Amino acid sequence: MTKQIYDFSEGNMKMRDLLGGKGAGLAEMTNMDLPVPHGFTITTEACHDYQRRQELSEQLLAELDQSLSALSRLTGKQFNGSDHPLLLSVRSGAAISMPGMMDTILNIGLNDQTVIALAELTSNERFAYDSYRRLLAMFGNVVDGIPEDDFDQILTDTKIANNYESDLDLTIDDLKEIVAKFKNLYENYDHGGFPQDPKEQLLAAVNSVFDSWNNHRAQIYRRQNNISEDLGTAVNIQEMVFGNYGEDSGTGVAFTRNPSTGKEGLFGEYLLNAQGEDVVAGIRTPKPVSVLKESMPILYEQLLDIAKKLENHYRDMQDLEFTIENGKMYLLQTRSGKRTPTASVKIAVDQVNEGLLSKKEALLRVEPESVSRMLHPEFEEEDLRQHEILTTGLPASPGAASGQVYFTAQDAKQASDNNKKVVLMRADTSPEDIEGMIVSQAIVTSRGGMTSHAAVVARGMASTGVVGAHELEVDYQKKVAKVKNQLIHEGDWVSVDGTSGNLYLGRIKTTDATIKGELSVLLGWAKEASKMGVYTNADTPKDFQKALDFDADGIGLTRTEHMFFKPERLLQMRRLILAEDAAGRKDPLKKLLQMQQGDFYEIYKLARDKEVTIRLLDPPLHEFLPHDEKEIEVVSKQTQISSEKLKDRIDSLKESNPMLGHRGDRLAVTFPDIYEMQVQAIMNAVVRLHNEGVEVSPHIMIPLTNSKQEMAWVRNLVVKQIDRVSTENDIAVKYTVGTMMEMPRACITADAIAECSDFFSFGTNDLTQLTFGYSRDDIGSFVPAYIKEGILPVDPFQTVDTEGVGELMKIAVVKGRKTKKDLPIGVCGEVGGDPKSIEFFEEIGVTYVSCSPYRVPIARLAAAQAHIRSVVNEPQFEKV
Ligand code: ADP
Ligand code: MG
Ligand code: MG
Repeated sequence: MTKQIYDFSEGNMKMRDLLGGKGAGLAEMTNMDLPVPHGFTITTEACHDYQRRQELSEQLLAELDQSLSALSRLTGKQFNGSDHPLLLSVRSGAAISMPGMMDTILNIGLNDQTVIALAELTSNERFAYDSYRRLLAMFGNVVDGIPEDDFDQILTDTKIANNYESDLDLTIDDLKEIVAKFKNLYENYDHGGFPQDPKEQLLAAVNSVFDSWNNHRAQIYRRQNNISEDLGTAVNIQEMVFGNYGEDSGTGVAFTRNPSTGKEGLFGEYLLNAQGEDVVAGIRTPKPVSVLKESMPILYEQLLDIAKKLENHYRDMQDLEFTIENGKMYLLQTRSGKRTPTASVKIAVDQVNEGLLSKKEALLRVEPESVSRMLHPEFEEEDLRQHEILTTGLPASPGAASGQVYFTAQDAKQASDNNKKVVLMRADTSPEDIEGMIVSQAIVTSRGGMTSHAAVVARGMASTGVVGAHELEVDYQKKVAKVKNQLIHEGDWVSVDGTSGNLYLGRIKTTDATIKGELSVLLGWAKEASKMGVYTNADTPKDFQKALDFDADGIGLTRTEHMFFKPERLLQMRRLILAEDAAGRKDPLKKLLQMQQGDFYEIYKLARDKEVTIRLLDPPLHEFLPHDEKEIEVVSKQTQISSEKLKDRIDSLKESNPMLGHRGDRLAVTFPDIYEMQVQAIMNAVVRLHNEGVEVSPHIMIPLTNSKQEMAWVRNLVVKQIDRVSTENDIAVKYTVGTMMEMPRACITADAIAECSDFFSFGTNDLTQLTFGYSRDDIGSFVPAYIKEGILPVDPFQTVDTEGVGELMKIAVVKGRKTKKDLPIGVCGEVGGDPKSIEFFEEIGVTYVSCSPYRVPIARLAAAQAHIRSVVNEPQFEKV
């Protein structure tokens, strides 16, 4: 077997896999000539070997002896020595940092003899016994599993008995007594006493660190953070330095920049006369490192200098651990510092300006998803901490909002008209709830998945949404909802966190956010560095404006059906559907024409020279119809159609599978006058703008196309209408007519469809639904179980299923471009805003993605990263 131990001087920062992050960092710092206490690292390979054989190998034991002798020579101290005892720390450290998850033991080598030697040598008896009691507690806990609390209790009892405020008040005699009591604990737990032999201590500690890889909290942490079980941990054995030596000593942690705001300058905390984790453990209140500037100016300068060196060397913000022994500075750890999204953006941009990073590197430093958290209002942390989580659902649409609960769209609307802030809480929502949804601060449902109606609409409107909160039982009759035993009545205040999916009782204060400063700079670089365009899905001028604020390249999808849900329009839409023949449809169509052309005009005007793709109507007709008796009465009055007749008509329109039913361009074939009206509305807007001196090229998209014949039929209808209006107004209009790619059959026959299609746009929601055969409104009841069982890696409606759906997309791209070499191809489903999916879309040659307004910046950054990465490691797949 290869060498299992590396001296710090033999390793470097590239050896993370073998030496773990901590070991690689200690080695790198040693080689940079920074003051690191001497030591060596047992490799992760040795850990694997140990896991297999469940004991330390002969080879490892032999290497350990050699390394100990070498360390002894280097330090001039002896393990188990009576003159100058060598004390060691035994520290875990995997390749990926898992802060605090595994074990570390300090002061190994102390026993009843060496503690006396140490006291004499240093003339500091207090320090010697303080170190010994620390070893006894850590070793007892980590190696023998004696509860930490038992040790703490003894300490606390002593402090209470003597009226002490802090550990620092403990006298030498107290510490000696505590040491004795700690040793007794071992006896009580029947562990045969604390091992006096330093070598025995060391081997037991190494065993325990290896074992700690498999402790419960480490396993949970790995699962949560997707860290492989196979990595294993390295063990670092290092000469101790002492922050608990006295008032000239201390220990601390520091970040090279502020991890919360990203602001330049050393940021951290330290404690004098303390050791190890005292700072984080909150035993005493630490001081900010800036205080060091006054109290120990030379050391502060040195720390500042080291921080700068390390940051420049690693070219990233670092998180450092240091200890001061008798006025001398030592570095004990360095790693890339964890930071908030805000800090991550600021640091990346600052480091480019400082010449530390290239723009491309900076773009790769920021997690696209984290940008989303910078764009939505958030609950104030302080206030949030005062509130308990009521229940948790799926985080459907990020943001944070408080409001009073209402259970129907009507009630919500009414309350909002009375200037109330409302939260709409329902089992689920349907399009007729739209008005209530528009006025709500947040939408909460107990059923449905991430692409359920409530979720899609909430995201589209950029309002806060939590869906599928299963514990919630909504009782519409009683106007009350129940969670566990808690009742929520109409009018009660709740707070909804769409980023975490959490629900709270009461109001929580929020803070607002927009794109500015460094974020706007970074997104500007992202635009330059990406190949794919980033468009938005927007149904109203308001949504579009939001997306324009976020620098969207245009509209990739306007769903015209969402324009029909305002009350006056809904009425006309109902008259249209309920009409018996073309003659009866004439008047409502005329009215709808008026309204739609106004919307299109507004959107085109906002767009200026940006492209707008309008998709013709795609609603299941039944969604527009009244559902219960009461509503039927109302509609009957409005439309002057008897309720008898209404009911018959509703029955005749009912479908068993509306998602697979009479929708999309199927509607165009049966009711051509609807699409004709829509094209007319688009063209009227184009003509009006032409007369105002603005030229618009309409891009019209046909939903649900299955075949070339179908596309040809609908295209013919659209083109005829465009030509008619153009001729009438004597203008030449450039236009394109393309199709959604959302039927598996369409993907497979894409070469034929491309013959009569000017562009494709993948509707991945329907494409996923139809490829898997999962109704997207019903996945809440089984997809979570599939994910939990590992049958599905993720929800395919959120991250594209590259193997199945993705394969169909590849076929469509390749076949489509066989027919038209430069065919523009977009993605306008939910996954169009998902970073992982965007990486895949870059690979298969998608031209642009289109997503909800708030996801535009995330998609932009993801698109830049995908392109930067693709240039580094092309080619990624073989062409089909
Ligand atoms: P973690 O991975 O949980 O951060 P560490 O191995 O870094 O654990 O150890 C925790 C703390 O113990 C360090 O921050 C440091 O304060 C202290 N420590 C570790 N090794 C030494 C040493 N050789 N001398 C002094 N203190 C040490
Ligand atoms: Mg540490
Ligand atoms: Mg669709």
